Amino acid sequence: MSKKIPITVAYGDGIGPEIMKATMKVLEAAGAELDYDVIEVGEQVYTSGHSSGIRPEAWDSLRRTRIFLKSPITTPQGGGMKSLNVTIRKTLGLYSNIRPNVSYHPFVKTNFPSMDVLVVRENEEDTYAGIEHQQTQDVTQCLKLISTTGSEKIARYAFELAKQRGRKKVTCVTKDNIMKLTDGTFHKMFDKVAAEYPEIENNHMIVDIGMAKLASNPYMFDVVVLPNLYGDVLSDVAAEITGSVGLAPSANIGDDFAMFEAIHGSAPDIAGQDLANPSGLILAACNMLAHLGMGDKAEEIHNAWLVTIEEGIHTGDIFQAEKSTLKVGTQDFATHVIENLGKKPHSLPKPNYGKGAMPKIVIERDRSKTKEMIGVDVFLDWNASEGTADDLAAILKKASNDTLGITLVTNRGVKVWPEGFPETYCTDHWRCRFYGSEKKPIKHQDIIDLLGRVSAQGLDFIKTEHLCTFDGKIGFSLGQGE
Ligand code: NAD
Repeated sequence: MSKKIPITVAYGDGIGPEIMKATMKVLEAAGAELDYDVIEVGEQVYTSGHSSGIRPEAWDSLRRTRIFLKSPITTPQGGGMKSLNVTIRKTLGLYSNIRPNVSYHPFVKTNFPSMDVLVVRENEEDTYAGIEHQQTQDVTQCLKLISTTGSEKIARYAFELAKQRGRKKVTCVTKDNIMKLTDGTFHKMFDKVAAEYPEIENNHMIVDIGMAKLASNPYMFDVVVLPNLYGDVLSDVAAEITGSVGLAPSANIGDDFAMFEAIHGSAPDIAGQDLANPSGLILAACNMLAHLGMGDKAEEIHNAWLVTIEEGIHTGDIFQAEKSTLKVGTQDFATHVIENLGKKPHSLPKPNYGKGAMPKIVIERDRSKTKEMIGVDVFLDWNASEGTADDLAAILKKASNDTLGITLVTNRGVKVWPEGFPETYCTDHWRCRFYGSEKKPIKHQDIIDLLGRVSAQGLDFIKTEHLCTFDGKIGFSLGQGE
């Protein structure tokens, strides 16, 4: 007798319980050898006082099974509640978010009949680090963190996935014409990894045109790899143009854990009415089976689902009066999928879960570079109505000495001193750049002393950023004219 694989299951909120019930019916009818450990996450848990939306004992289940099949949850607005999805992805190291976007023409209405784009989104970094501060009356800040190791890891994952699934091309999407250090790192690591896969075509696109091209001609894309925020937006656009967000699954993969879910939310507007399309979660469960080494079961269920779509048996969200044959509710749809187990689709392409397991991707950390501090950016909260940038610079000169002297003042990144324009609008958030004479290396104590002098001038410093070189290469963006 084969041993059942334990997985953790959460029924979620809104339409979550209905689509999970339908999905479990299909898994059981297909004979998937799974042992379910049900946990509660989401709205009820939030309102019972757990601001993360998950109870400590639920983590025990996840750490035991390491596989999570999750229905959507409702995230309460405001009130310090953290997104449970982001918490789970980051706590469990689910660094890769994979979203296949496939058209089911002519059975599901779409402008792109043969679209098949696999989005690989970096899942832990970028602005999703969630490190935000209000620094002045006027200005808030969100830190965008991109690591070399995280970028290399997701790039390798994208190429390995492309290889496993017989894909021909991987496109990297960033905004490195503007964010040369952060997005530049992502792009650079992509290029480094791409060179190791000469059999797979590769290219890079800037996110604005990349997104526009995807919406107008998705056939230009095969596999797309991109940082977290762009990936979040682009994958929803990709799903929507295939016909419905209700059809798309998502896999969140890490070294030791994996989470599978539909891409849509808890749809409270249709909850409890047996109207929801369970397809996204059923296909997510297929991805889970393939991940667990049950590729045959994944294909069997996926094929049965394709046959059901081909038969025109559709839930309301994809029902077309002239093409569909039967409008069904959530549970009846699942029953039809079960009846079609063992059948193969006629015209829709069969699923491709790839052969063999994905290799575990290990990235060596490189800490070999020589780091030197050559200056510091001191950020100030200073009311622009107290004077001009020249007035501020005059005060900063009094705080300067040979070790660290003021060289540049910017406001929202625009140079306002020396030789700024009086027309430039200034907020109360100023970046003041200090270098040592001849840009020689400086020490922490030099910065501490400088801050003492800045404070003695009655200025309110709100943060510092050290200006460092790594193996002699500058590790910060230059101000205009520097
Ligand atoms: P949503 O995806 O829940 O709904 C958007 C629209 O699509 C609604 O009209 C809804 O009825 C429809 N829809 C969604 N899924 C459907 C399905 N399976 N079948 C038929 N129609 C479907 O997005 P929203 O309204 O912005 O968010 C609702 C809640 O879900 C929010 O609390 C949000 O935070 C949460 N959310 C959770 C997740 C998750 O848990 N992974 C993801 C996104 C949103």
